[in-house]
Amino acid sequence: METKWLRVSAAPDDPEGLERDPAVVEAAAYLRKGELVAFPTETVYGLGGNALDPRAVAKIYEAKGRPPDNPLIVHLADAAQLAAVARSVPKAARRLIDAFWPGPLTLVLPKREGVPLRTTGGLDTVAVRMPAHPAALALLRLAEVPVAAPSANRSGRPSPTTAAHVWEDLAGRIPVLLDGGAATVGVESTVVDVGGDRPVILRPGGIGPEELAEVLGTEVELDPSWSEPVERPKAPGMKYRHYAPEGTLYLVVGDVAAARREILRRAEAERKAGRKVGILTTEEGRSWYPAPFYAVACGRREDLSSVAAALFAALREFDRAGCDVIFAEPFPAAGVGWAVVNRLLKAAGHRVIRV
Ligand code: AMP
Ligand code: MG
Repeated sequence: METKWLRVSAAPDDPEGLERDPAVVEAAAYLRKGELVAFPTETVYGLGGNALDPRAVAKIYEAKGRPPDNPLIVHLADAAQLAAVARSVPKAARRLIDAFWPGPLTLVLPKREGVPLRTTGGLDTVAVRMPAHPAALALLRLAEVPVAAPSANRSGRPSPTTAAHVWEDLAGRIPVLLDGGAATVGVESTVVDVGGDRPVILRPGGIGPEELAEVLGTEVELDPSWSEPVERPKAPGMKYRHYAPEGTLYLVVGDVAAARREILRRAEAERKAGRKVGILTTEEGRSWYPAPFYAVACGRREDLSSVAAALFAALREFDRAGCDVIFAEPFPAAGVGWAVVNRLLKAAGHRVIRV
């Protein structure tokens, strides 16, 4: 199959212009026909298909090579569309929607019968969100259906934050790639289950637990799977290998200065053994690691949102450079840092070096 690369040209602050943009119009026609479209969101690029059409949804799993029990997130053009997919919306969910939509927050709600089990990985709940990306919203309005969209990468690879990343993974496997520039948040949405007595974060993401707690006025727990490998997770998708670069990644945890000394010591040993060493650092740490070490500055440590925005591109860069072994510096679990640490732990297959 040949993949069309369609570039959005209308301005982001012009919603009507975006709905007339030829690229967006053409992409929406594919969605309405039951075909797949990779499209930009503020978190990462998504691979979308009509969430109510089991055949369209089957194509998503096929193109990604995604295990069939890993559920998809359904994307809505506005909160009014919730009634088409969710049986009910608990009060806590309503509060979070009012505070954070459009935005990187996904809610797990009881699903309506019309939502195929294929979409939800066999669960009787459905995960929904409204993205804060003008081109995505224009696409969703024109599609006129809820759109199931996991990240637009081959299963197991780092999520795509640019159209070029999507192309690397899915060219030839999908009909359309809608290019709307680089994702700004850079990590996926925060997934919250509000179905129990207390809200639980199933996956940390673009919105920190602290912000959710402030709106709800209660503590918000993180599911233990955020930092530990799990055998029987609440959401089946959590058990799969994720975000992994081809080289072996180690996450160093502890004090940053001590971590840098430990990384240098280990990097030197790896180099002597003939391996190419990558190091995931930040602008502040780059000068610590001289060539031939391949250091990638992933944002600025003083601004964790810049680290999140650069994270997946950095992981892909180590593959491009052919690194055999990669060491990642520690990051604090706070705000979007919870998501950064979670993605690094998964990318590392939980190989952690404590200093
Ligand atoms: P992705 O869009 O590739 O980031 O994957 C979507 C993720 O959302 C899944 O791997 C799950 O962790 C989560 N998710 C989707 N639907 C549900 C659901 N019904 N219940 C719990 N988690 C879900
Ligand atoms: Mg994904």
